Amino acid sequence: MIARTDLVFVRCTADGRTLLGPTSREQGARWVGAYAPHAEAWELILVASCQCCGSLDVVVRAGVQHRCERHRDRNPCLVDGCRRTIAAGRNELADDQSICGAHWRRYVPPGSPLRRTYNRFFRLARRHGWTPGLIRRFERFWTGMAARVRRQAAEGFVDQREIDRLFGWSEAA
Ligand SMILES: [Zn+2]
Ligand SMILES: [Zn+2]
Repeated sequence: MIARTDLVFVRCTADGRTLLGPTSREQGARWVGAYAPHAEAWELILVASCQCCGSLDVVVRAGVQHRCERHRDRNPCLVDGCRRTIAAGRNELADDQSICGAHWRRYVPPGSPLRRTYNRFFRLARRHGWTPGLIRRFERFWTGMAARVRRQAAEGFVDQREIDRLFGWSEAA
């Protein structure tokens, strides 16, 4: 997965001059697109930046995750554009594993199907422990939930039926 705040430089392939950047991938691609007849003359150079704040002063690199000094043990809220960060604690650095309190309450409110499903995992874990099977299902749940929350945040609406379909518990649990 491409880290969401990674930035690019647009560089001239002929003489290596930097023509634009650092800027977002979209901006860089758009700029190159505007020069389409000569597109082969430009290249996008990906530069690492802190996923929490966009700083180019990266001191931590863990796979595609990059962090500045201030955010070396923080994770960004998974909602794009949210500037809140969450302590990584014992979890690994990631940009889709944490959600801030405000967005959690907004997109996974108490009583919603997502929250009920989430709570159900913890009820099962209390009863039977975090078995490998339960962990696998929880990870699947979280991935789907993160994708939903991101889409909702981008589109601003909730399709209840889709949530039911995605997270309905058909298997006996
Ligand atoms: Zn940072
Ligand atoms: Zn947030």
